[in-house]
Amino acid sequence: MSHDLSLRSLLSSSLLPASEARVLMAHVLEKHYQLPRSALLSRDEMELSSEAILQWQALQSKRLTGEPIAYLLGKKGFHNIELFVAPGVLIPRPETELLVDIGLQEIERLHRPTTVLDLGTGSGAIALAIANAAPDALVSATEQSSEALGIAKKNTQLLKLETRVQLMQGSWYGALSNDARFDIILSNPPYISNLDPHLSQGDLRFEPISALTDHASGLTCLEAIINGAKDHLNPNGLIAVEHGFDQSDAVVDLMKSAGLSDIQTHLDLAGHHRVASGRNSGG
Ligand code: GLN
Repeated sequence: MSHDLSLRSLLSSSLLPASEARVLMAHVLEKHYQLPRSALLSRDEMELSSEAILQWQALQSKRLTGEPIAYLLGKKGFHNIELFVAPGVLIPRPETELLVDIGLQEIERLHRPTTVLDLGTGSGAIALAIANAAPDALVSATEQSSEALGIAKKNTQLLKLETRVQLMQGSWYGALSNDARFDIILSNPPYISNLDPHLSQGDLRFEPISALTDHASGLTCLEAIINGAKDHLNPNGLIAVEHGFDQSDAVVDLMKSAGLSDIQTHLDLAGHHRVASGRNSGG
């Protein structure tokens, strides 16, 4: 019995949604044949080697069990950079680009070399996107997990940003010296409540739980970050944090209680309140 092992037939017999099958097949073509994505169409009669077919089958079956595409490809685009990602880090989300843009806007407003702190950097996404887009910025990033820190270090090297991005291990401000102060503090901490059913659904099942939830109300890490901000911001410095779509009022209250001024809320592209910011008026 002869099997049709052409690219076209492998794709059309896949149980995956067509768009996902194409992304994974493009990855196989790149790895085994150094072919661009356009080969999906231009070379669709091509018969794959047995190694390539084995990889295609492995990727397909992992995806069918729910493993996120970004982990299968080992990469994810974020803002203007591409990051290496693996199961030890949260997969960067498009909504977090809002936090990067708020930071970049402040850097532009200050119009001088700026110091930026990213708390809980994970893959390095926020810190590296800022450093990449703002050549005069000096960025520090903290991370508690050794595994995540290793991935952030790899990304810093891949993007050749080692001279402007300093990685430090520790919990939130615990990684810093007491007198460290910054113009801008950014963070996308774990803010999903431990009761949220999404934690056991979809891609989230495969991501590090400590990057998703505080194992409590969802607000405890946000509270620690907001409460420590005044001690680590320069006068008039800006803090901006990402939060859940229904946490805006609670986060604004935390910022008020912490004595921050000029508190603002920011909408993501889906129209959800996703980021809150405030300033250290010095008072
Ligand atoms: N935005 C992510 C999600 O809802 C959560 C990331 C986080 O907790 N910081 O999937």
